[in-house]
Amino acid sequence: MTTTPDIAPLTRLASGCEVHLPGSAGYDAARTPWNLAVDQRPAAVAVPRTVEQVQDVVRAAAAAGLRVAPQSTGHGAAALGELELGGVVIVRLSELTGVTVDADTRTARVVGGTLWQDVVAAASSYGMTALHGSAPDVAVAGFVLGGGLSFYGRQHGLAANAVTAIEIVTGEGALRRASATESPDLFWAVRGGGGNFGVVVAIELELLPHADVYAGMLLWDRERAPEVVPAWVAWTRTAPESATTSLRVMSFPPLPELPPFLSGRDLVVIDGAVLESDDDAAALLAPLRALAPEMDTFGRIPATALLEVHMDPPGPSPAVADHSVLGSLDAAGVEVFLEQVGPGTRTGLLAAELRHLGGALARPDARGGALSAIPGEYALFCVAMAPEPQAAVAGRAAAFGVVRALSAWSRANLVPTFTETRVDSSRFYDGEDWAALCRARDVADPNRVFVANHGL
Ligand SMILES: Cc1cc2nc3c(=O)[nH]c(=O)nc-3n(C[C@H](O)[C@H](O)[C@H](O)COP(=O)(O)OP(=O)(O)OC[C@H]3O[C@@H](n4cnc5c(N)ncnc54)[C@H](O)[C@@H]3O)c2cc1C
Repeated sequence: MTTTPDIAPLTRLASGCEVHLPGSAGYDAARTPWNLAVDQRPAAVAVPRTVEQVQDVVRAAAAAGLRVAPQSTGHGAAALGELELGGVVIVRLSELTGVTVDADTRTARVVGGTLWQDVVAAASSYGMTALHGSAPDVAVAGFVLGGGLSFYGRQHGLAANAVTAIEIVTGEGALRRASATESPDLFWAVRGGGGNFGVVVAIELELLPHADVYAGMLLWDRERAPEVVPAWVAWTRTAPESATTSLRVMSFPPLPELPPFLSGRDLVVIDGAVLESDDDAAALLAPLRALAPEMDTFGRIPATALLEVHMDPPGPSPAVADHSVLGSLDAAGVEVFLEQVGPGTRTGLLAAELRHLGGALARPDARGGALSAIPGEYALFCVAMAPEPQAAVAGRAAAFGVVRALSAWSRANLVPTFTETRVDSSRFYDGEDWAALCRARDVADPNRVFVANHGL
């Protein structure tokens, strides 16, 4: 029998934090995550504007016997949405934002729910950038706490490794700072351990000394996939760490809001960044350009423009996805990939992506946290648009079908930020790290106040 949680303490918060309860006017808007396919129905959604309000919400929730799910944007809401959230308060960090750059130490201090686009813009004023992902409106918090794969990643490693300190509200409502010298166990755990340890209200991270970057995309009709896919896979085997790229087979519906080169088309697209001089980058890309793409946007661009290269959706969207990490792909693996998504197939997917891993992404960092490297050669990510529930069922099946077809090439591990379903989260970590992470959670959150999209 379920009991109705007593949410009265939340409505009496001394600090006046905005709290939306089921049935109230703002509840539906507040509970809606970036991923519109996720129908999360929590006991309440709190939208704090100060750290004190975060502390009050956590204390009030715990006093009411409710659990707390930190959420910045809801880009990663799919796995959380699989849970029954009737006893959970979502703490949405969208109004607790801000970024300060320290040019001397080449670091940024990023408040709770700040988006990557704001960090990249602030860093660019000083000729720097950061280990952001492909989309401008992903929050720094969920990205770095789950590892974080950037187009600078093969050279500079996981984004989590660039974090130098965090400030976090714990299950008792206390504000703690963790770094290599302050609460080092907590600092280790949170870098990879996601939202299981508290509400992160600030992150300090190292910036990168790049004002501009050689980046862009190459695009062909999908009919060319049988040439392009094996050529890119062969190219990745010898590509230097300075190059981080992705290959996607994409299908776009005919929509007037899409540019003609995308609307109604099936395509193969290679994109990413190359941290080399113009001449060296051009020489490196020459074998791919020799395949005569119909569009080639690679060139030197301001570092801020790298956020647009991957053509991620410009705003909240309904999507379902599946994922695996692949080891090396031989000719048979490439053939299976093409059988699944190549010319003539009707996949129902928006994209089947192979994100190149390796390089610094695969090297554990001695100064890093619970997740400091991702073993494997490629992250496979298959995504379908799901504007209504039936499309979500079909999209999940389509995405799973491609992942399953490539199971002979897949590894046991998964990338947290690419995982959109509840899985056995020991698959994200090295076995000993997993056990240490669970012990760290027992110390940091013994009452299990926090609920993350990927639980421990
Ligand atoms: C269009 C798109 C492009 C993407 N591109 C990339 C990419 O290039 N590389 C990559 O690695 N990933 C990528 N992702 C995945 C993305 O990084 C993850 O979904 C990430 O978790 C999103 O973080 P968020 O805070 O915006 O999302 P949320 O859904 O708000 O957060 C996800 C989880 O992170 C934790 N969390 C978030 N904020 C806090 C906080 N303040 N305190 C404590 N815990 C918190 C919580 O456990 C939460 O459930 C992409 C996703 C999308 C939809």
